[in-house]
Amino acid sequence: MIIVLKPEATEPEIEHIMDRLQELGLKSHISHGQERTIIGVIGDDRILQNQPLTALPGVESVLAILAPWKLVSREFQKDNTVIDVGGVKIGGKKIVMMAGPCAVERLELTVDIAQEVKAAGGSILRGGAYKPRSSPYSFQGLGREGLDYLLEAKKKTGLPVISEILDTRDIELFLEKADIIQIGARNMQNFELLKEVGAYDKPVLLKRGMSATIKEFLLSAEYIMSRGNRNVMLCERGIRTFETQYRNTLDLAAVPTLKELSHLPVIVDPSHATGKWNLVAPMSRAAVAAGADGLLIEVHSNPECALCDGEESIKPSKFKDLVQDLKKIAEAVGREV
Ligand code: PEP
Ligand code: MN
Repeated sequence: MIIVLKPEATEPEIEHIMDRLQELGLKSHISHGQERTIIGVIGDDRILQNQPLTALPGVESVLAILAPWKLVSREFQKDNTVIDVGGVKIGGKKIVMMAGPCAVERLELTVDIAQEVKAAGGSILRGGAYKPRSSPYSFQGLGREGLDYLLEAKKKTGLPVISEILDTRDIELFLEKADIIQIGARNMQNFELLKEVGAYDKPVLLKRGMSATIKEFLLSAEYIMSRGNRNVMLCERGIRTFETQYRNTLDLAAVPTLKELSHLPVIVDPSHATGKWNLVAPMSRAAVAAGADGLLIEVHSNPECALCDGEESIKPSKFKDLVQDLKKIAEAVGREV
């Protein structure tokens, strides 16, 4: 349910409304839009059916949100959410390029890749320190040391960093060392992890599960937001289909669909979506044309020796060319790269 406030509603009136909701056992989230301030009511709001909410001073109208997700919905917030990550704005006019190795490997390599990503026009450095591998015998990542290497690369380049969390017990570490916490496809419905990252305001990039519907995806984002964290971005990274020619099938229709249903930024990961380096550029171009707010791309200086996902990683020179190409497409759809 949404409570739309009168433009002239005063602070004491707003506080009174929120107190009243609390008395009824409901949580409220206030959102100051360009035109209106609204209060999103969270919890079992059937209790409100018999409450004369419009009798409260400051209330203009009360609307039911029909979608099963509330805080992530466009009904709740008309304007796009723009997330500020160390000065990089995600969800605004500029399409944000996040790039780096699948897994953090050596310090020198991490710094080299970060410098190349920056020089090419990237603004966020990616790198997995904790890797969710299908086989227990594959490289599992450097853990804490990997996060330190990312921090070192950040110091040298100024690029904020994104890295994937696997375990709720690592939350303090990620709050300290990462600028964006990534929740991977395999953990999209790890509800304890979602609730944990929801308890802070650290930006979170939530990846779509490999077999998740749009509804399940948005409900997972709702888990995070319902705990208070508003800095959530959605990432389409391909879904499993009958097609075996590539690793996953990039669901491009998800981009405009998510933008229509939600105010959250939508990022596309063409690397995991295809599993093939030669498909990364065409799918990136398509993602920008479809309205993506950012791209998450695997870049490695020497893909054939990469410890993880070398087959889908592009070299820094290719990344540079891609950024240049994307400028034209972005312009055609009223955006910038
Ligand atoms: C990743 O980005 O490193 C990753 C493991 O991706 P996904 O969760 O989409 O498979
Ligand atoms: Mn990878």
